[in-house]
Amino acid sequence: MPIEFFSNEFPMKFTKLREKVNMNLIRKIKSFQTIELINKANEITLKEHGNKISLERAIFLSWWCEKGDCAFCYMSSQKSKIREPAKARRSEESIFAEAELTKRLGWNVEFLSGGYGAFTTPEIKNICESIHKITGKPVWLNVGITKDLDAYGEEIAGVTGAVEVANPELHDKICPSKSLDDIVEMLELAGDLGFEKAITIILGLGETPDDLKYLWDMIQTVGINRVTFYSLNPHKDTIYENEPQPASLYYAGVVAATRIKFPKLKIITGTWTDNLANIGPLILAGATGITKFPLFKMFGTGYAKRAENEVLWAGRELEGTFTDFCMLKTGKIPDPKVEPFIKRYIDQCLNNKSEQDKG
Ligand code: SF4
Repeated sequence: MPIEFFSNEFPMKFTKLREKVNMNLIRKIKSFQTIELINKANEITLKEHGNKISLERAIFLSWWCEKGDCAFCYMSSQKSKIREPAKARRSEESIFAEAELTKRLGWNVEFLSGGYGAFTTPEIKNICESIHKITGKPVWLNVGITKDLDAYGEEIAGVTGAVEVANPELHDKICPSKSLDDIVEMLELAGDLGFEKAITIILGLGETPDDLKYLWDMIQTVGINRVTFYSLNPHKDTIYENEPQPASLYYAGVVAATRIKFPKLKIITGTWTDNLANIGPLILAGATGITKFPLFKMFGTGYAKRAENEVLWAGRELEGTFTDFCMLKTGKIPDPKVEPFIKRYIDQCLNNKSEQDKG
């Protein structure tokens, strides 16, 4: 056994080594050695995760949030306009219809997401149980900071903390009502209860490459299993309204450095329709799942085919489909009350097709 294991110097040496690795990776991002990072990350990803890419779908529970003060968030621009929050809740039938369609298409439910205060814990648990039955897979939660995790059981796979920005100073300014300490406490509780742990990060909120040390420290110390990266989507009526989205190679560099640092981490990356060209580089940088698509608006369109081609030309195999109408129409009806909602979503997808055929 190496001498270090018997020495008090070991923890100090280990910390110094870790810091050195962090600094090297950050230096590579800052000196634009992105291609080098991506090459290394791609090698690691193929070795650790294989060549499959999943399509991920966050299912939203509501369009209202009792906090409503995160500086980048669409819901922060809506809070004052919504007088009756109960009406901003989605019907359970529409949620279950969406779960059924994601199953038919071979997509994953990335997580169940909702603004604070929209649903109670027993309501969320019931919804998760039904989705678990529909998809056959336990659900990830992303429903805000909660201490009620012991209410959940086998219907839950993991718990997500919406960290958004890991630099504590920046975080307090951008998300004043979601304390980082509380998020970490919730994730630790999730781990104690046997659930997996995930976080979400948004790039483009004002962070710098040096801030990656906060993110990596959190992944390491909390034992995070999965990270979803998004890029800023500048919403009207927020302070980011006129801010640019992060550069594609900066986004890819951050993902690649994170992949090199954490070979086994599950990494999902989010891309809007206006940035589909990011998908290929993000996959090469280490993403094994892609998300943030307006599924029913995009299904079967040229945008959907483009997303599939991005995966193809990254040399990967896509799990599930974004274009196969047969798969969309084939499946069970979980409950007669859900059927009209399934029909409505399918009609929306078919309408995309007929609009394209007209063109
Ligand atoms: S807590 Fe979540 S939903 Fe609420 S304002 Fe912040 S980011 Fe938006």
